[in-house]
Amino acid sequence: MTLNIILLGPPGAGKGTQASRLEDEHGMIQLSTGDMLRAAVKAGTPTGKQAKAVMDAGELVSDEIVSGLIGERLDELGPDVSVIFDGYPRTGAQAESLDEILAARGRKLDHVIELLVQEDALVDRITGRFSCAQCGEGYHDRYKQPKVAGTCDVCGSHEFKRRPDDNEETVRTRMAEYRAKTAPILPIYEARGIVTHVDGMADIDVVNDAIETILSAATTG
Ligand code: AMP
Repeated sequence: MTLNIILLGPPGAGKGTQASRLEDEHGMIQLSTGDMLRAAVKAGTPTGKQAKAVMDAGELVSDEIVSGLIGERLDELGPDVSVIFDGYPRTGAQAESLDEILAARGRKLDHVIELLVQEDALVDRITGRFSCAQCGEGYHDRYKQPKVAGTCDVCGSHEFKRRPDDNEETVRTRMAEYRAKTAPILPIYEARGIVTHVDGMADIDVVNDAIETILSAATTG
């Protein structure tokens, strides 16, 4: 059975961390529009050039661009792959597009998992995070330093990177965007009875267990 799941929650709620767990454990594929846009910026594509300033300011890239990226990526994956949408949809228009994109490909949205978090903790979570430039393993200044200082636990690389938009000012704009444009799409999914709320402040493993339980219910029932 092919699953189509949305992970919803403000920046720093742990969507990316949980999505990559699901990739490792279930072979699902994480569709992160943020990652796709960062790749486009790095590659210097026309989309990347258009998106860079908007992303650096913490504002939202146009609905057409991100929905276009999602459609293209689903076409590359084909029909048999289960997917987790991470950071998409972020507006009502994107939520509508997603329904159309899925229907056109014989897919349907199975579940929306909202990670509930306390906003004041998020600035601390986000501004301390960094990752391995080689393999992408995530770290944090205060909560998860590499075991050997300056060396990635997973691949041994000595190069790390930080996202340019993970600074306090931009984080506050990103949260305001979430409150104003993304949170209001939740009722659309609540009305369909497909939303489950998970405590995103709990330990990574505890959040993962809660999501696993939801997925097994979605698969069996
Ligand atoms: P993220 O990695 O999900 O935090 O996204 C980083 C940035 O990319 C956001 O602050 C936006 O500027 C842009 N972005 C990512 N996904 C979307 C989306 N679905 N709609 C609009 N902008 C997006």
